[in-house]
Amino acid sequence: MMVVSRARVTRALLVLVLAVALAACSTLAVLGCRPQLAGGGTGADTGSGSGGVTPGSGGTGGTGGPGGTGGQPPPPADTAFCPLCGAEEPRAALLHRPLAVCVDNQSAARPQSGLKDACLVYEVLTEGGITRFLAFYLHEKATAVGPIRSLRPYLLDLSMALGAPIAFVGGSQAALDDVATLAASALAINEMSYPYPFWRSEARSSPHNAYAGIAELRSASVALGYEPATLSNPTVPAFSFAPTPDKAVLPTGQTVQRFTLTYAAGAGDYSVTYDFDSEAGQWMRYLGRSAQVDAVDGHQLRATTVIVQFVSSSVIPGDSEGRLKLNLTGGGSCRVFCQGRTFTASWAKSGRTSGLTYTDASGKPLNLPPGPVWVLIAPPNSAVTTQ
Ligand SMILES: [Zn+2]
Repeated sequence: MMVVSRARVTRALLVLVLAVALAACSTLAVLGCRPQLAGGGTGADTGSGSGGVTPGSGGTGGTGGPGGTGGQPPPPADTAFCPLCGAEEPRAALLHRPLAVCVDNQSAARPQSGLKDACLVYEVLTEGGITRFLAFYLHEKATAVGPIRSLRPYLLDLSMALGAPIAFVGGSQAALDDVATLAASALAINEMSYPYPFWRSEARSSPHNAYAGIAELRSASVALGYEPATLSNPTVPAFSFAPTPDKAVLPTGQTVQRFTLTYAAGAGDYSVTYDFDSEAGQWMRYLGRSAQVDAVDGHQLRATTVIVQFVSSSVIPGDSEGRLKLNLTGGGSCRVFCQGRTFTASWAKSGRTSGLTYTDASGKPLNLPPGPVWVLIAPPNSAVTTQ
């Protein structure tokens, strides 16, 4: 009969535990444990941004952070930060051009679909004091965005600034002339000439009933030759983002709970109010006195950062509808609302296809917390009141 001593059993158990531990380590190595999340940029510590996806980086992102010891290159990060909203996403989901969609804001168009999923939304005046949205999508897969409306020249200035194909339903003559002239830069997806990705809702009346899904618009963009199925170089960044809200480096500014923008030019019921939800760290949107919500799930529209961008505009002489010209080339001032505070900033854009930049008083790019950004483009004499 074999007798096994307690010491031998203990040694055997120790060997077993060590073997299991070694096996676990090698399994983690095979899985490619990341030394640092997302893009690896260390810019957040210096307040200069999130690293991650930058133009011209070849799509490989940052340096992988502090894990590259012993002369070995760190494993490539498999996530990166969205250059439009700062969200951490699978890298593959960011290797596309952003898509821009012109969305209606007239009363018959409300509630809209898909605005809540956008990374970045511009709101601009059109003729008659009404507003329209230009919503940008990069990684989200909204199945319905709309109602989609017609193009204006200045919406192209915003989409071209980000190299984004732009979806719309017809346009003013000036906008359609621009599309023809700027074809290679305009990247137009016009329902009137390319209806495939669009559909009409029977629940709404025309012209407030055209919709499209992001996946279909992406397919259309590829089919029209605007981009390969996957880009090796990601999009131009819209802003500099910190990886987490507490790392954002922003001017102190003034504390604000609520603000209202009343667009000039007789903008009827298009004044907007944003209320700060301190728990969510987001601004909840009201149109007039009503919460503006998404048609699909009823969720109130919200943004982490709201920028009121003052841009001079004028009615185009002789235009029968009173259409506007917005002077988006040049520069001007902004009011930024972020983290329950407000401060002033500047914007600049050197040409129609150039990027749009936002800088603080010292000239440094704004370093925003991650989250959706809404930019309200308003005439300089628009009223902004705060509480
Ligand atoms: Zn995003």
